[in-house]
Amino acid sequence: MDRSLEIKQNLEQVYENITSAAFRAGRKPDEVRLVVVSKGQPVETIQAAITAGVKIFGENYPEEAIEKIQAAPAMDVAWHMIGHLQSRKAKLVCSHFDWMQSLDSLHLAEKMERLLAEHNRTLPVLLEFNVGGEETKSGWLAGEKINWPQILPDIGQILELPHLQVRGLMTMPPLTANREEARGHFKKLVELQKTLRVQFPQANWDELSMGTSSDYEAAVEEGATFVRIGTSILGPRQPRHLSQTANLRQV
Ligand SMILES: *Cc1c(COP(=O)(O)O)cnc(C)c1O
Repeated sequence: MDRSLEIKQNLEQVYENITSAAFRAGRKPDEVRLVVVSKGQPVETIQAAITAGVKIFGENYPEEAIEKIQAAPAMDVAWHMIGHLQSRKAKLVCSHFDWMQSLDSLHLAEKMERLLAEHNRTLPVLLEFNVGGEETKSGWLAGEKINWPQILPDIGQILELPHLQVRGLMTMPPLTANREEARGHFKKLVELQKTLRVQFPQANWDELSMGTSSDYEAAVEEGATFVRIGTSILGPRQPRHLSQTANLRQV
């Protein structure tokens, strides 16, 4: 079958599921935006996906993404960084991406602030939290409520950085979590959002990026405003090179 037709059918199915999940929770389906995760997918797939109507792509590795960004027609498509970003690669994201969903440290935030100031550019960002309590993953450790006060000073400092526009929270549950465990993580992210609204009422905490192919319906029921879906729309992806198996654990 034609690749873009196949992607279009997958998209329709996913939108249908998002719509049902939103209605079950008394939400409007258009409160949920779909980020199509294109890591490990070739440029031709990106082009087919654009033809099928995809508006937002999510990528995990800046070098891989930039090839695709440059090969894709710029108009009407946005690129969101969703993977752990090493600060030495921050420049690639500051100059090529439209959103940073995986801001996970004060150090990275400060580096990005300097680069964005140089480019005279602002960037919408989400703060990534690890609500699953798995030490090896990225994001501020927020699995235990008792740790939340320790996170607040970093967040207060990030909110002062003028070129980063904080718009909400993001999380990625452990790969091992089943759908109902993932739901528990999503609920925790919503609780953290409430806490941040109280602690920093001047900031915007509206966006919640949560849910992948395996658990996006639960995420929508719990309040996701962004879902990040790869395989259910684009199919299986190419595995990363062996030297990068450490990253693979996180995807
Ligand atoms: C890979 C990835 C996704 C998408 O996963 P699928 O199972 O392909 O839907 C979503 N979010 C992040 C952070 C990812 O790394």
